[in-house]
Amino acid sequence: MEPTDLIDLSGLRMSPGEGRRLDLTVLLDAVRLSEQGYAPDPDLQEVRLDISRMLGGGYALQLRFDTTIAGPCMRCLTPTRSEVEVDVRELEQKKRDPEEQFDSDYVKGDELDLHRWANDSFVFSLPVRVLCRPDCLGLCPECGKELNDDPTHTHAKGPDPRMAALSGIRFDEDGNLVQGP
Ligand SMILES: [Zn+2]
Ligand SMILES: [Zn+2]
Repeated sequence: MEPTDLIDLSGLRMSPGEGRRLDLTVLLDAVRLSEQGYAPDPDLQEVRLDISRMLGGGYALQLRFDTTIAGPCMRCLTPTRSEVEVDVRELEQKKRDPEEQFDSDYVKGDELDLHRWANDSFVFSLPVRVLCRPDCLGLCPECGKELNDDPTHTHAKGPDPRMAALSGIRFDEDGNLVQGP
């Protein structure tokens, strides 16, 4: 199915109170997170759009899709995949009273920018961290070894030169310095 970018809401010719369900395809763009590239998989995403024409005029919109994002684990860099669930709503209702007015960023005139709404919602719904597993141990900060393969990996600690310098300091009984480093 060809991806849908824009939908002419008035072109649907819905009467007030009517609901319409559209199954559409949207092109999702790759995103950058923590300086790494992440790709929606698939990039041609099937989405479900529910449109309700409200009795008082305007539209209530709901967009839903489940997808995955592929890219490096944010701790160990292993290629991984996380599930992304998108379920968002928008209200577009023009009223004279500004208190009752809802102005969706994605509706201009009678046109719904489905591509931008789907992509913004996708980014908004991403997990805070993309991890190969929730308890990923990441990489050794000293040598970069993957700790999931070797959880007991450690480095022998040599003497810290700062501590060695301090150990050369001596004080007498009155607290006066008698020997510097
Ligand atoms: Zn990992
Ligand atoms: Zn190491």
